[in-house]
Amino acid sequence: MTRSGAGIAAIVMLSISAAAASAQTKSAVDKLYILNCGEGVAGDISRWSPGVNVGKSMDFADNCYLIHHTQGWLLWDTGIPDAVAVMPDGQAPADPKATHWWRPKTLASQLDQLGVKPTDIKFVAISHTHGDHIGNVELFPQSMLLVQKAEYEWRGPSGSARFKPEHPVTKLEGDYDVFGDGNVTIISTPGHTPGHQSLLVKLPKTGAVILSGDAVHFKSNWDNRGVPANNTDKEQTLASMQRIADLMAKEKAQLWINHDKAQRDSLKLAPDYYD
Ligand SMILES: [Zn+2]
Repeated sequence: MTRSGAGIAAIVMLSISAAAASAQTKSAVDKLYILNCGEGVAGDISRWSPGVNVGKSMDFADNCYLIHHTQGWLLWDTGIPDAVAVMPDGQAPADPKATHWWRPKTLASQLDQLGVKPTDIKFVAISHTHGDHIGNVELFPQSMLLVQKAEYEWRGPSGSARFKPEHPVTKLEGDYDVFGDGNVTIISTPGHTPGHQSLLVKLPKTGAVILSGDAVHFKSNWDNRGVPANNTDKEQTLASMQRIADLMAKEKAQLWINHDKAQRDSLKLAPDYYD
């Protein structure tokens, strides 16, 4: 190679590495949609913060979050069953202190509006196995479930399995970097249930967001570190809340609380999105 040939090669190499560096600083996650996965009224919010606001009811939201990464779509939680949408009186709880749910729109119709087919969803990640989070898992029979092993193996009240045994699943044991680039990370936050998990998403413009699952139910419940009486482990719940607080400080992350309707009303819902 001549001297000038080597010089050109060096310039080409430099510009390739500069392009690679700029690609690395740009997140591979370009869209996060908040989907309406239910609207409810909690009968008595002291159920979630014992001794606080006894007898007071509160409007609840129930969200699903659809995330687009260059490697594919991930759906975080699946909400109240779509079948509830046709029930004029919604789904009433057995315990009047719990939440009465309605479904103003189906999950299927919201995906359809975005032009996303259920078969396009690569991963369905579930915060935990309560009914208002797993109501539509079987809309996505081909999608890989991302669920903690402890949650997957946790039996239902009647001793039943939580998921269909034929549904593809990756049983996690702790944190999990879904796409291998640190932009979408499942964070193990047990306590509400044995294998509860939250999600850290790094968006290029919005910045880092932590999706709570039910690690916390509404803002005052977070501020007071309220541990719901029905949680499976109080100490784990408090440790998980602290872990989220530490992660918020480290990543300068916002906390989006799934059931906090006041917060949800301040955010953009699909078809708008966060990038
Ligand atoms: Zn729950």
